[in-house]
Amino acid sequence: MSGQVYAHVGQPFTASSYDLLIVGAGRMGAAFARFVMERAPGTRLLLAEEGGLPNEEGATILAPGVWHSFVPPEQAQRAAVTRDLLAEALNVCGVLDLCTDERGDLVPTDAVWTPELEALVNPAALPFARLDERGGVYSVASTTLQNAQAAVQAGADLMLNVRCELAGGGRVLLQRLSVTNTHEIVVEQRISVRADTVVIAAGAAGPPLAEAGLGVVTPHRQAYRQSVRLNLPSAPSSRVIQAGGFVLRSQSGGYSVLPPILHPDPCGYTPSGGRLAGVPVGLRREVIESMLDMLDALPALADERLVVGRSIADIPGAWLALPAGGWPLWERLDDQHVLLLGGERADLTGLSVAHELAQELG
Ligand code: ADP
Repeated sequence: MSGQVYAHVGQPFTASSYDLLIVGAGRMGAAFARFVMERAPGTRLLLAEEGGLPNEEGATILAPGVWHSFVPPEQAQRAAVTRDLLAEALNVCGVLDLCTDERGDLVPTDAVWTPELEALVNPAALPFARLDERGGVYSVASTTLQNAQAAVQAGADLMLNVRCELAGGGRVLLQRLSVTNTHEIVVEQRISVRADTVVIAAGAAGPPLAEAGLGVVTPHRQAYRQSVRLNLPSAPSSRVIQAGGFVLRSQSGGYSVLPPILHPDPCGYTPSGGRLAGVPVGLRREVIESMLDMLDALPALADERLVVGRSIADIPGAWLALPAGGWPLWERLDDQHVLLLGGERADLTGLSVAHELAQELG
Protein backbone atom coordinates (compact mmCIF):
# COMPACT_ATOMS: atom_id res chain seq x y z
CA MET A 1 0.00 0.00 0.00
CA SER A 2 1.24 3.53 -0.82
CA GLY A 3 2.51 5.77 1.95
CA GLN A 4 1.17 9.22 2.80
CA VAL A 5 2.41 12.41 1.22
CA TYR A 6 2.28 15.46 3.50
CA ALA A 7 2.86 18.38 1.18
CA HIS A 8 1.60 21.24 3.37
CA VAL A 9 0.64 22.05 6.96
CA GLY A 10 -3.06 21.76 6.21
CA GLN A 11 -2.65 18.00 6.20
CA PRO A 12 -2.79 16.68 9.77
CA PHE A 13 0.14 14.52 10.82
CA THR A 14 -0.33 12.24 13.80
CA ALA A 15 2.49 9.69 13.63
CA SER A 16 4.92 9.80 16.55
CA SER A 17 7.47 7.17 15.60
CA TYR A 18 9.11 5.50 12.61
CA ASP A 19 11.61 2.74 12.04
CA LEU A 20 13.62 5.03 9.80
CA LEU A 21 13.56 8.77 9.25
CA ILE A 22 15.53 10.27 6.37
CA VAL A 23 16.35 13.97 6.57
CA GLY A 24 16.51 15.33 3.02
CA ALA A 25 14.91 14.01 -0.17
CA GLY A 26 17.76 14.97 -2.46
CA ARG A 27 19.40 12.48 -4.79
CA MET A 28 20.93 10.49 -1.92
CA GLY A 29 17.95 10.51 0.46
CA ALA A 30 15.38 9.67 -2.23
CA ALA A 31 17.47 6.84 -3.70
CA PHE A 32 18.18 5.46 -0.25
CA ALA A 33 14.44 5.52 0.63
CA ARG A 34 13.65 3.58 -2.52
CA PHE A 35 16.33 0.96 -1.94
CA VAL A 36 15.22 0.45 1.67
CA MET A 37 11.59 -0.06 0.64
CA GLU A 38 12.66 -2.51 -2.06
CA ARG A 39 14.77 -4.50 0.33
CA ALA A 40 12.54 -4.33 3.42
CA PRO A 41 9.00 -3.51 2.20
CA GLY A 42 7.33 -3.27 5.61
CA THR A 43 9.70 -0.57 6.91
CA ARG A 44 7.91 2.39 8.53
CA LEU A 45 9.85 5.15 6.85
CA LEU A 46 9.49 8.94 6.76
CA LEU A 47 11.34 10.86 4.07
CA ALA A 48 11.38 14.53 5.17
CA GLU A 49 12.35 17.38 2.85
CA GLU A 50 12.72 21.06 3.63
CA GLY A 51 11.62 22.21 0.19
CA GLY A 52 9.71 20.67 -2.68
CA LEU A 53 10.69 17.67 -4.73
CA PRO A 54 13.21 17.97 -6.13
CA ASN A 55 14.25 20.91 -4.01
CA GLU A 56 15.33 23.90 -6.08
CA GLU A 57 18.15 24.78 -3.72
CA GLY A 58 19.87 21.44 -3.23
CA ALA A 59 22.67 19.98 -5.29
CA THR A 60 20.19 17.60 -6.89
CA ILE A 61 18.49 19.93 -9.31
CA LEU A 62 21.75 21.58 -10.37
CA ALA A 63 23.98 18.52 -10.52
CA PRO A 64 25.68 18.00 -13.88
CA GLY A 65 24.31 14.46 -14.12
CA VAL A 66 27.39 13.19 -15.94
CA TRP A 67 28.44 9.56 -15.61
CA HIS A 68 31.75 8.18 -16.88
CA SER A 69 34.21 5.52 -15.90
CA PHE A 70 37.25 7.77 -15.32
CA VAL A 71 37.41 6.94 -11.64
CA PRO A 72 40.19 5.61 -9.44
CA PRO A 73 40.31 1.78 -9.37
CA GLU A 74 38.89 1.64 -5.83
CA GLN A 75 35.75 3.46 -7.06
CA ALA A 76 35.30 1.42 -10.26
CA GLN A 77 32.91 -1.08 -8.72
CA ARG A 78 30.69 1.64 -7.26
CA ALA A 79 30.68 3.52 -10.55
CA ALA A 80 29.64 0.33 -12.38
CA VAL A 81 26.84 -0.33 -9.86
CA THR A 82 25.65 3.26 -10.23
CA ARG A 83 25.52 2.86 -14.01
CA ASP A 84 23.42 -0.30 -13.64
CA LEU A 85 21.09 1.47 -11.21
CA LEU A 86 20.69 4.37 -13.63
CA ALA A 87 19.59 1.88 -16.28
CA GLU A 88 17.55 3.61 -18.97
CA ALA A 89 17.84 7.07 -17.34
CA LEU A 90 21.32 7.42 -18.87
CA ASN A 91 21.58 9.07 -22.27
CA VAL A 92 24.73 7.45 -23.61
CA CYS A 93 26.42 10.20 -25.61
CA GLY A 94 30.07 9.62 -24.69
CA VAL A 95 32.34 11.56 -22.36
CA LEU A 96 35.60 13.00 -23.61
CA ASP A 97 38.36 13.81 -21.16
CA LEU A 98 40.99 16.18 -22.58
CA CYS A 99 44.45 16.58 -21.05
CA THR A 100 47.69 18.43 -21.52
CA ASP A 101 50.01 15.60 -20.50
CA GLU A 102 50.65 12.20 -21.98
CA ARG A 103 49.67 9.30 -19.77
CA GLY A 104 49.24 5.56 -20.26
CA ASP A 105 45.69 5.25 -21.55
CA LEU A 106 45.50 8.50 -23.53
CA VAL A 107 45.28 8.91 -27.30
CA PRO A 108 46.01 11.99 -29.42
CA THR A 109 43.03 14.37 -29.36
CA ASP A 110 43.00 14.24 -33.18
CA ALA A 111 42.02 10.57 -32.97
CA VAL A 112 38.71 11.41 -31.28
CA TRP A 113 38.08 14.76 -32.97
CA THR A 114 34.58 15.66 -34.17
CA PRO A 115 33.54 18.84 -36.05
CA GLU A 116 31.47 19.84 -33.02
CA LEU A 117 34.63 20.29 -30.96
CA GLU A 118 35.87 22.95 -33.38
CA ALA A 119 33.92 25.71 -31.64
CA LEU A 120 34.85 24.63 -28.12
CA VAL A 121 38.34 23.21 -27.91
CA ASN A 122 41.87 24.12 -29.02
CA PRO A 123 43.43 20.69 -29.70
CA ALA A 124 46.96 22.11 -29.62
CA ALA A 125 46.51 23.09 -25.97
CA LEU A 126 44.79 19.81 -25.07
CA PRO A 127 46.67 17.28 -27.21
CA PHE A 128 45.72 14.09 -25.31
CA ALA A 129 42.35 12.51 -24.77
CA ARG A 130 40.43 9.51 -23.57
CA LEU A 131 36.90 8.74 -24.61
CA ASP A 132 34.36 6.78 -22.63
CA GLU A 133 31.80 5.63 -25.20
CA ARG A 134 29.64 4.16 -22.42
CA GLY A 135 29.53 7.46 -20.53
CA GLY A 136 26.63 9.86 -20.73
CA VAL A 137 24.28 12.25 -19.03
CA TYR A 138 21.11 11.92 -17.01
CA SER A 139 18.68 14.16 -15.21
CA VAL A 140 19.50 13.90 -11.53
CA ALA A 141 16.30 15.78 -10.71
CA SER A 142 14.00 13.34 -12.49
CA THR A 143 15.86 10.30 -11.16
CA THR A 144 15.38 11.73 -7.67
CA LEU A 145 11.70 12.36 -8.25
CA GLN A 146 11.20 8.83 -9.56
CA ASN A 147 13.03 7.32 -6.61
CA ALA A 148 10.94 9.29 -4.10
CA GLN A 149 7.75 8.29 -5.92
CA ALA A 150 8.79 4.64 -5.95
CA ALA A 151 9.51 4.80 -2.21
CA VAL A 152 6.04 6.26 -1.54
CA GLN A 153 4.38 3.67 -3.77
CA ALA A 154 6.16 0.99 -1.75
CA GLY A 155 4.75 2.40 1.52
CA ALA A 156 7.12 5.19 2.66
CA ASP A 157 5.65 8.45 3.97
CA LEU A 158 6.94 11.66 2.43
CA MET A 159 6.74 15.06 4.08
CA LEU A 160 7.63 18.18 2.09
CA ASN A 161 8.19 21.72 3.35
CA VAL A 162 9.52 20.51 6.66
CA ARG A 163 12.79 21.54 8.23
CA CYS A 164 14.27 18.87 10.50
CA GLU A 165 16.38 19.44 13.57
CA LEU A 166 18.10 16.61 15.39
CA ALA A 167 17.45 16.34 19.09
CA GLY A 168 19.57 13.24 19.80
CA GLY A 169 18.47 9.74 20.77
CA GLY A 170 16.64 9.29 17.45
CA ARG A 171 14.36 12.24 18.13
CA VAL A 172 13.77 14.67 15.29
CA LEU A 173 11.96 17.97 15.52
CA LEU A 174 9.83 18.51 12.43
CA GLN A 175 9.18 22.16 11.68
CA ARG A 176 6.46 22.38 9.09
CA LEU A 177 6.92 25.48 6.97
CA SER A 178 4.62 27.71 5.01
CA VAL A 179 5.06 30.85 2.94
CA THR A 180 3.28 34.07 3.91
CA ASN A 181 1.81 36.37 1.28
CA THR A 182 4.92 38.55 1.70
CA HIS A 183 7.03 35.52 0.69
CA GLU A 184 8.42 34.93 4.14
CA ILE A 185 8.99 31.34 5.20
CA VAL A 186 7.54 30.74 8.64
CA VAL A 187 7.36 27.73 10.95
CA GLU A 188 3.68 26.80 11.24
CA GLN A 189 3.91 23.72 13.36
CA ARG A 190 6.49 21.86 15.45
CA ILE A 191 6.22 18.11 15.94
CA SER A 192 8.62 15.78 17.65
CA VAL A 193 8.97 12.27 16.23
CA ARG A 194 11.20 9.35 17.20
CA ALA A 195 12.91 6.93 14.87
CA ASP A 196 15.03 3.85 15.52
CA THR A 197 17.43 5.12 12.88
CA VAL A 198 17.86 8.61 11.49
CA VAL A 199 19.73 9.00 8.21
CA ILE A 200 20.94 12.53 7.59
CA ALA A 201 20.92 13.01 3.82
CA ALA A 202 20.74 16.80 3.87
CA GLY A 203 23.59 17.51 1.45
CA ALA A 204 25.89 20.38 2.41
CA ALA A 205 23.60 21.10 5.38
CA GLY A 206 24.04 17.56 6.74
CA PRO A 207 27.35 17.86 8.61
CA PRO A 208 26.41 21.17 10.33
CA LEU A 209 22.99 19.72 11.21
CA ALA A 210 24.63 16.69 12.83
CA GLU A 211 27.18 18.84 14.61
CA ALA A 212 24.54 21.20 16.01
CA GLY A 213 22.04 18.51 17.02
CA LEU A 214 24.24 15.65 18.14
CA GLY A 215 27.39 17.41 19.26
CA VAL A 216 29.52 15.21 16.98
CA VAL A 217 32.43 16.54 14.98
CA THR A 218 32.67 15.60 11.31
CA PRO A 219 35.55 16.39 8.97
CA HIS A 220 33.21 17.56 6.20
CA ARG A 221 33.47 21.18 5.14
CA GLN A 222 31.58 23.03 2.45
CA ALA A 223 32.58 23.80 -1.09
CA TYR A 224 30.83 25.84 -3.75
CA ARG A 225 30.27 25.88 -7.43
CA GLN A 226 29.04 28.69 -9.64
CA SER A 227 28.22 27.76 -13.18
CA VAL A 228 27.65 29.56 -16.43
CA ARG A 229 25.90 28.77 -19.65
CA LEU A 230 27.25 28.81 -23.17
CA ASN A 231 24.68 29.44 -25.86
CA LEU A 232 26.59 27.67 -28.63
CA PRO A 233 24.38 25.11 -30.37
CA SER A 234 24.46 21.57 -29.03
CA ALA A 235 22.45 18.40 -29.51
CA PRO A 236 21.40 15.74 -26.98
CA SER A 237 23.94 13.48 -28.67
CA SER A 238 26.82 15.96 -28.13
CA ARG A 239 29.63 14.49 -26.11
CA VAL A 240 30.39 15.76 -22.65
CA ILE A 241 33.77 17.47 -22.54
CA GLN A 242 35.98 17.48 -19.46
CA ALA A 243 39.15 19.57 -19.37
CA GLY A 244 41.13 21.26 -16.62
CA GLY A 245 38.41 20.73 -14.03
CA PHE A 246 35.76 22.16 -16.37
CA VAL A 247 32.79 20.15 -17.57
CA LEU A 248 30.86 21.22 -20.67
CA ARG A 249 27.61 19.35 -21.07
CA SER A 250 24.94 19.77 -23.65
CA GLN A 251 21.74 21.04 -22.07
CA SER A 252 18.64 22.54 -23.65
CA GLY A 253 20.37 23.27 -26.95
CA GLY A 254 23.44 24.95 -25.40
CA TYR A 255 26.14 23.97 -22.94
CA SER A 256 26.20 24.10 -19.18
CA VAL A 257 29.72 25.06 -18.22
CA LEU A 258 30.71 23.80 -14.79
CA PRO A 259 33.92 25.36 -13.53
CA PRO A 260 36.03 23.57 -10.91
CA ILE A 261 34.64 23.35 -7.39
CA LEU A 262 35.72 26.25 -5.19
CA HIS A 263 36.39 26.34 -1.50
CA PRO A 264 35.32 29.26 0.68
CA ASP A 265 37.72 32.12 0.39
CA PRO A 266 40.15 32.57 3.23
CA CYS A 267 38.76 36.00 4.09
CA GLY A 268 35.71 34.26 5.46
CA TYR A 269 33.15 35.07 2.80
CA THR A 270 30.77 32.15 2.51
CA PRO A 271 28.29 32.43 -0.31
CA SER A 272 24.84 31.12 0.55
CA GLY A 273 24.08 28.17 -1.67
CA GLY A 274 21.39 28.70 -4.25
CA ARG A 275 19.51 31.35 -2.32
CA LEU A 276 18.65 34.64 -3.90
CA ALA A 277 19.08 36.62 -0.68
CA GLY A 278 22.70 37.58 -0.17
CA VAL A 279 23.78 36.06 -3.46
CA PRO A 280 26.25 38.13 -5.44
CA VAL A 281 24.88 38.68 -8.93
CA GLY A 282 27.69 38.13 -11.37
CA LEU A 283 30.69 35.90 -11.46
CA ARG A 284 33.02 35.54 -8.52
CA ARG A 285 36.65 36.45 -9.00
CA GLU A 286 37.78 32.82 -8.54
CA VAL A 287 35.42 31.62 -11.26
CA ILE A 288 36.66 34.28 -13.68
CA GLU A 289 40.27 33.39 -12.86
CA SER A 290 39.69 29.71 -13.53
CA MET A 291 38.07 30.62 -16.84
CA LEU A 292 40.97 32.89 -17.81
CA ASP A 293 43.40 30.06 -17.07
CA MET A 294 41.54 27.84 -19.52
CA LEU A 295 40.97 30.36 -22.33
CA ASP A 296 43.73 29.00 -24.51
CA ALA A 297 42.47 25.42 -24.19
CA LEU A 298 38.75 26.19 -24.27
CA PRO A 299 38.42 29.34 -26.41
CA ALA A 300 34.63 29.06 -26.19
CA LEU A 301 34.86 30.49 -22.68
CA ALA A 302 35.57 33.86 -24.28
CA ASP A 303 32.54 33.66 -26.54
CA GLU A 304 30.02 36.45 -26.16
CA ARG A 305 27.35 33.78 -25.88
CA LEU A 306 28.62 32.86 -22.43
CA VAL A 307 25.99 33.92 -19.88
CA VAL A 308 26.00 33.95 -16.11
CA GLY A 309 23.66 31.48 -14.43
CA ARG A 310 23.71 27.75 -14.06
CA SER A 311 20.93 26.91 -16.46
CA ILE A 312 18.33 28.64 -18.55
CA ALA A 313 15.89 29.02 -15.67
CA ASP A 314 18.53 29.85 -13.16
CA ILE A 315 19.26 32.61 -10.69
CA PRO A 316 22.20 34.51 -12.19
CA GLY A 317 25.33 34.22 -10.14
CA ALA A 318 23.83 32.07 -7.39
CA TRP A 319 25.93 29.48 -5.66
CA LEU A 320 25.51 25.84 -5.09
CA ALA A 321 26.85 24.55 -1.79
CA LEU A 322 28.33 21.05 -1.65
CA PRO A 323 30.14 19.06 0.99
CA ALA A 324 33.80 19.42 0.09
CA GLY A 325 36.09 16.79 -1.28
CA GLY A 326 35.95 13.06 -1.34
CA TRP A 327 33.46 10.64 -2.71
CA PRO A 328 29.86 9.97 -1.70
CA LEU A 329 29.86 8.18 1.62
CA TRP A 330 27.84 6.99 4.55
CA GLU A 331 29.14 6.93 8.06
CA ARG A 332 27.69 6.08 11.43
CA LEU A 333 27.66 9.00 13.84
CA ASP A 334 26.30 7.01 16.81
CA ASP A 335 23.96 4.06 17.42
CA GLN A 336 20.98 5.79 15.84
CA HIS A 337 22.35 8.34 13.38
CA VAL A 338 23.98 7.83 10.01
CA LEU A 339 25.32 10.55 7.73
CA LEU A 340 24.75 9.97 4.00
CA LEU A 341 26.59 12.43 1.78
CA GLY A 342 26.56 12.90 -1.98
CA GLY A 343 28.88 15.80 -2.69
CA GLU A 344 31.05 16.57 -5.65
CA ARG A 345 31.06 13.13 -7.23
CA ALA A 346 27.58 11.89 -6.37
CA ASP A 347 26.78 11.67 -10.09
CA LEU A 348 29.35 8.91 -10.46
CA THR A 349 28.88 6.73 -7.40
CA GLY A 350 26.06 8.24 -5.29
CA LEU A 351 23.39 5.67 -6.15
CA SER A 352 25.73 2.82 -5.34
CA VAL A 353 26.53 4.29 -1.91
CA ALA A 354 22.81 4.79 -1.14
CA HIS A 355 22.20 1.21 -2.27
CA GLU A 356 25.00 -0.09 -0.09
CA LEU A 357 23.60 1.65 2.99
CA ALA A 358 20.14 0.19 2.31
CA GLN A 359 21.68 -3.30 2.22
CA GLU A 360 23.49 -2.57 5.45
CA LEU A 361 20.43 -1.26 7.33
CA GLY A 362 17.60 -3.09 5.59
P1 ADP B 1 22.91 15.01 -1.72
O1 ADP B 1 23.68 15.11 -2.99
O2 ADP B 1 23.81 14.63 -0.57
O3 ADP B 1 21.67 14.19 -1.81
P2 ADP B 1 21.34 17.44 -1.99
O4 ADP B 1 21.76 18.84 -1.74
O5 ADP B 1 21.03 17.02 -3.37
O6 ADP B 1 22.46 16.50 -1.35
O7 ADP B 1 20.05 17.09 -1.14
C1 ADP B 1 19.91 17.45 0.19
C2 ADP B 1 18.46 17.73 0.47
O8 ADP B 1 18.28 17.90 1.87
C3 ADP B 1 17.97 19.01 -0.18
O9 ADP B 1 16.84 18.72 -0.96
C4 ADP B 1 17.65 19.93 1.00
O10 ADP B 1 16.53 20.75 0.78
C5 ADP B 1 17.37 18.94 2.10
N1 ADP B 1 17.61 19.47 3.46
C6 ADP B 1 18.69 20.18 3.87
N2 ADP B 1 18.57 20.49 5.18
C7 ADP B 1 17.40 19.96 5.60
C8 ADP B 1 16.70 19.95 6.86
N3 ADP B 1 17.21 20.54 7.95
N4 ADP B 1 15.50 19.32 6.92
C9 ADP B 1 14.98 18.70 5.82
N5 ADP B 1 15.58 18.69 4.62
C10 ADP B 1 16.78 19.30 4.51
